[in-house]
Amino acid sequence: MSFFCDRCFLVRQCILAQSLNMKTNPFVKAFVMASFFLLAVYGQLNAQQLNRIEPPFWWAGMKNSSLQLLVYGKDISLTRPSIDYQGVKIKESILVENPNYLFINLEVSPDAKPGVFEIRFTGPKKIFLSYTYELKEREKGSAERKGFNSSDAIYLLMPDRFANGDPSNDQADDMVDKPDRANPNGRHGGDLKGITDHMNYFKSLGVTALWLNPVFEGNVPTPSYHGYSITNFYRIDPRFGSNDDYKNMVDQAHNQGIKVIKDMVFNHFGNGHWWMNDLPMADWVNQWPEYTRSNFRAGTLSDPHAATSDRERMLKGWFDIMMADFNQKNPFVAKYLIQNSIWWVEFAGLDGIRMDTYPYSDKHFMAQWMKCLRNEYPDFSVVGEAWLNTTPQVAYWQESNRNNDGYDSHLNYVFDFPLKYAIGSAFNEGNGWSSGASKLYETISMDFLYTNPDNIVTFADNHDGDRFYSILGKDLRKYKMAMSFLLTTRGAPQIYYGTEILMTGLEHDGHGFIREDFPGGWPNDGVNAFTGMGLSEEQADAQAFTKALLNWRKNSKAIKQGKLKHYIPEEGVYVYFRYLQDEAVMVIINNNEESRTFKTDRFSENLDGYSSGTDIITRTYFDQLRMISVPAMTARVIELKK
Ligand code: CA
Repeated sequence: MSFFCDRCFLVRQCILAQSLNMKTNPFVKAFVMASFFLLAVYGQLNAQQLNRIEPPFWWAGMKNSSLQLLVYGKDISLTRPSIDYQGVKIKESILVENPNYLFINLEVSPDAKPGVFEIRFTGPKKIFLSYTYELKEREKGSAERKGFNSSDAIYLLMPDRFANGDPSNDQADDMVDKPDRANPNGRHGGDLKGITDHMNYFKSLGVTALWLNPVFEGNVPTPSYHGYSITNFYRIDPRFGSNDDYKNMVDQAHNQGIKVIKDMVFNHFGNGHWWMNDLPMADWVNQWPEYTRSNFRAGTLSDPHAATSDRERMLKGWFDIMMADFNQKNPFVAKYLIQNSIWWVEFAGLDGIRMDTYPYSDKHFMAQWMKCLRNEYPDFSVVGEAWLNTTPQVAYWQESNRNNDGYDSHLNYVFDFPLKYAIGSAFNEGNGWSSGASKLYETISMDFLYTNPDNIVTFADNHDGDRFYSILGKDLRKYKMAMSFLLTTRGAPQIYYGTEILMTGLEHDGHGFIREDFPGGWPNDGVNAFTGMGLSEEQADAQAFTKALLNWRKNSKAIKQGKLKHYIPEEGVYVYFRYLQDEAVMVIINNNEESRTFKTDRFSENLDGYSSGTDIITRTYFDQLRMISVPAMTARVIELKK
């Protein structure tokens, strides 16, 4: 069903009349109605325009046969759309407050073939506009794609700061933020080519998935380099490359057996977005009488005692003055975001999504999004950034959790923030009942709260906090212990770029200092971490250590799929096993300044049946397992033999 333009003015008059609250004043009413009439005539005298349609194209054979197009152009709502293509039908076209928008609901039947067709827009004076729309053919196996899982090791990198593969794109004429490598908050020129050119590095390092901070167009003033102020949801930022460069990067990663996780943001977008000059409707974004920040208290969403006003401010307050806050309760916004994420999965061949600021968006919308996404891709993976400090608060956001309020997020992966904090302090403090080694044990013991403790992304640092090596007081022994723990405990570990070469930086100095350029990524860099040139002895040691552990992990079934059993730490020594029926790995972390030698009787429920083992880090062979020695501040990762 289509509404034609003559009706649209009545509808709009109605909406505006209500919003002006002019019921009681007949003079005002008459004046406003006359103005509407004049506006209507004026509108019809001016040519309508068609500036864009989003999604710009779609695919034949998607499971969900509905598709909503956002059409934008001057007075486009005065036109009537039509399509003549077998299997594609206009169900309705919807007028909204702003006459420059039209939303078209399409039905794309399962028998619609890939191909192109015209969407024609006929105006009141027979003005005629046309858009060539394409239904692409889906890649084989697209719906059956497998997302990342706990067998993966994820490498997080900030594209502007990793490698500048194409200095010619550092500056883009239509982008306001110009390159400035000397400025910690400026654009440094890193790009998709820089990432694509170093697939061999990722492969040899032993990571199996890449998570890039957002690479959408972010046309806002400094700082824009981080990518979280999106100004076009269908365009890769030209300073990173093109949409095709992005797809090519994913293809090259896949050729090396590496998955790609796309960072997306549903909570907010950059003020430089073209919407902000001409919003489709007033409630497209959450608006306040004056600028109001979020209170950043994500815990209010699960807190049964939270004040409504606190929760509202958490959700509807803006994340930053430069970032407009989406109102996902608006059904057009909701559909826009859902389709946008599916578009990228399908277009680029993604293996996963990392969703930013997860609890800041309407949680019922987020659950709906997950259902829609997994309806198209049942084995897809999404990890949500629910940045909360305690396990119960994080667990609230994992799918099928037994929440008292009945909420089910349908989100399959969460980040393990509590374990991140535990790793950050366990190696820096004395061993007590709940400190030191016991902190790791205690935190892992909270896993009963998770629906699935394997579906967790673990990490020691990321782009939002202090660099791990700084947290550890630049102590290489602690680094090795912590890395051994991170790469052998449950979950899918995520490593922040540069952590493998001991990059340092503290958040309070500014975000630019925890997101410095990866050495060797720029022409003429004096140090090159890709080749090893100029790395200090310690850096080279850490890189080799991490590489060895990651590559071993890649082939360890016990780590990738095995269960976890851990034992109460004694005298600062934490022992745990990852095991399957016929395979086991014993991990011993000696968080003491003295070496420890101990009997292994109390681990018999895991050791029975095994008689020897090899420390995969030092290649030390243990011809017996009854008594084991571990040097001071060291972890042993022992592959057990029958
Ligand atoms: Ca560049």
